Amino acid sequence: MHRIDCPWCGERDEVEFQYQGDATKVRPKPDASEDAFFDYTYQRDNPKGWHTEWWHHVGGCRQWVKVVRNTLTHEVHKTGGPQSKLPLPRRKAEGGL
Ligand SMILES: [Zn+2]
Repeated sequence: MHRIDCPWCGERDEVEFQYQGDATKVRPKPDASEDAFFDYTYQRDNPKGWHTEWWHHVGGCRQWVKVVRNTLTHEVHKTGGPQSKLPLPRRKAEGGL
């Protein structure tokens, strides 16, 4: 089990949250191609390592939380609200984690 720091409630157990998917996808403009909407709706990467995700705090404030989580270790690096820009941690070779 890991803990997620909700920006509104503070640190809580993962069981209070539901994973809601990839937070890196950006909705295409209304006049975008059908392929762009297909990609937005159905195509997902399956990254190994750091990833930005949506989590819903269903057992708390019911807000949507953006979470940078390592898909291998489940370590949570940063959390923020929907408008937050959360950079991924740098790799060891770059002087980071
Ligand atoms: Zn919350």
